[in-house]
Amino acid sequence: MKDRCIAIIFLVYFSALITSCKNVPESKTYFSMGTVCTINLFDAGTKERYDECEKCLKNIEHKMTINRNNVLLNKVLSDDNEGMSELETASLYAGEKAVSVSEETFQVLKCALEYASLSDGAFNPAIGPLVKLWNINGDIPYVPSETEIQKTLLFCDWKKISLDENNKTLFLTQEKMIADLGGIAKGYAADCLVSLFDSWKISKALVSLGGNVYAYGDKDKKGTPWKIGIKNPVETDDSPVIRLDVNNTSVVTSGIYERFFEADGKKYHHILDSKTGRPVDNDIVSVSIICKKSMEADVLATTVLALGKEKGMDFLTKKTGAEGIIILKDRTILHTAGLTDKIIILDERFSLIQ
Ligand code: ADP
Ligand code: MG
Repeated sequence: MKDRCIAIIFLVYFSALITSCKNVPESKTYFSMGTVCTINLFDAGTKERYDECEKCLKNIEHKMTINRNNVLLNKVLSDDNEGMSELETASLYAGEKAVSVSEETFQVLKCALEYASLSDGAFNPAIGPLVKLWNINGDIPYVPSETEIQKTLLFCDWKKISLDENNKTLFLTQEKMIADLGGIAKGYAADCLVSLFDSWKISKALVSLGGNVYAYGDKDKKGTPWKIGIKNPVETDDSPVIRLDVNNTSVVTSGIYERFFEADGKKYHHILDSKTGRPVDNDIVSVSIICKKSMEADVLATTVLALGKEKGMDFLTKKTGAEGIIILKDRTILHTAGLTDKIIILDERFSLIQ
């Protein structure tokens, strides 16, 4: 299990981890969607509510994972698709027929395809076969040959993902296709948690799903902002390099430094370039997006990282309601105009590009 808390919530957060006097823990940690998920409901935390949060995360994982039972590697067809996620079922019938999916999976797929189109495939929800080939998130990652990469790329065309809005179906129209929502589903999960918080009418909560943070509500009645730390992506020593003061928003970070493996002295990370079939290779080490909708923040973070600094910043600037921070390998930091005066640099080795 890899610790994936890229953006760290500090100060208030650590003090909040102390168990409250009501015998209800003020925070709960689950392992879901391949990452460590921590939810803190502060005084509003009850066992029932934490259970409901867990159910919400498990439900999304259950529907959208492509990592269950290795069915996709083995291609074992069975009559009942028990234990398989909706995406895995769609892959089993790739090139054959459309399968029904839940409203949740449909909405995430729809957003993923929108971004694929807007980014000209830099965000690619059909990247699954390549992700499986490299197995970067798995136990035994592997550097494939150029021939293997080229062969696999033939099955990674996002335009061959077909959605039917009326029937709520997903059809992977070519055999061997695998839809991968790893770059967006955690954001969707954070938004679902926020809907729960809204329904409970609680005043504040903190959510961390790996690199996806949601700072819900205000820290206190005076409207004091939450302090979110962006972890050092270059030295990867867990110390924050940037402090951001935010209220009621999501901060999602995608980086090339958390999920990777090393072979022959080279690092291979988990965000892949749809054109080369290899890990994205540009100046960026991490992208953090600040946006009320966590799904949007998640998909944007992966997209901007895949696009590179110029195209990525251009893409971000055109998006309303989202701000972003790009940290480059040379320790310089780019950000959108809306964050001027909001970024506090905590590590003097890093500097802002004005
Ligand atoms: P994390 O999930 O580690 O927080 P991201 O949100 O950036 O990071 O998502 C990375 C995941 O997205 C990968 O593990 C993989 O499943 C998937 N992925 C890899 N490359 C791409 C890409 N070019 N477009 C869309 N999804 C991708
Ligand atoms: Mg993402």
